[in-house]
Amino acid sequence: MAILTAQELTKQYSGEEQPALNHANLAIEAGEFVAIVGPSGSGKSTLLHLLGGVDKPTSGTVHLYDTNVFELNETQLAIFRRRQVGLIYQFYNLLPVLTVQENITLPADLDGRKVPADELAELLEILGLTDKVQSLPSELSGGQQQRVAIGRALVNHPAIVLADEPTGNLDKRNSQEIMDLLRAANTKRGQTLVVITHDPEIAAQADRVMTITDGRLTGGGDDGHH
Ligand code: ADP
Ligand code: ADP
Repeated sequence: MAILTAQELTKQYSGEEQPALNHANLAIEAGEFVAIVGPSGSGKSTLLHLLGGVDKPTSGTVHLYDTNVFELNETQLAIFRRRQVGLIYQFYNLLPVLTVQENITLPADLDGRKVPADELAELLEILGLTDKVQSLPSELSGGQQQRVAIGRALVNHPAIVLADEPTGNLDKRNSQEIMDLLRAANTKRGQTLVVITHDPEIAAQADRVMTITDGRLTGGGDDGHH
């Protein structure tokens, strides 16, 4: 069953000649691990931000289950982003004044939800961050910071995790650790996962590879004809 679909999704930034994303159609199945590849500037981040409801398309639609994401009002959209989407970035995007634990539980805290202690302990253990709960991001290595970002992305059990070059700033060993954590979430918890990558080894681990070239998506699994 497709949980996330996009139909004729187009993004034209003002002042740009060509659309960054040009009539993209895709369907992502529950539990799938999809890689997005393509040259720099081809529209990969644009697509990811539209799928996560972080940016708005010029035209076209995104549905999560039967929710038409861009018909939500601002309040509903904020809740959608917090509960249904886990975003992971190349440069972690942690809040520097919050501790490791506070960064991880932030999406739950914003929802007024307390993460059960045993659940939090298990997550910290899986991430190898148990002895770092009170540390600030500035006191951590890049690999550790990305593990915090993974915890934050997973804490609300989102329908989909979207990662934009999650290993792009890490060495080979840390990259493999980060991918192992994401893949474990995918295989053990059925976490649906979309990862932008330049790394052919990572793309080779995915169930499916989608390619974007000059804003044109191929391999979306939905040719747009209904
Ligand atoms: P990728 O992630 O594949 O490197 P992006 O989605 O970041 O590609 O960018 C696609 C195109 O859109 C590029 O030409 C880029 O310069 C342009 N672009 C991205 N973000 C903006 C923006 N906020 N305003 C204007 N143009 C943008
Ligand atoms: P968890 O998986 O942590 O129990 P939820 O209780 O939010 O999280 O969701 C239970 C299951 O239902 C999950 O597999 C989730 O992906 C799925 N789900 C979440 N939101 C919806 C929805 N709007 N419609 C159908 N299924 C959903």
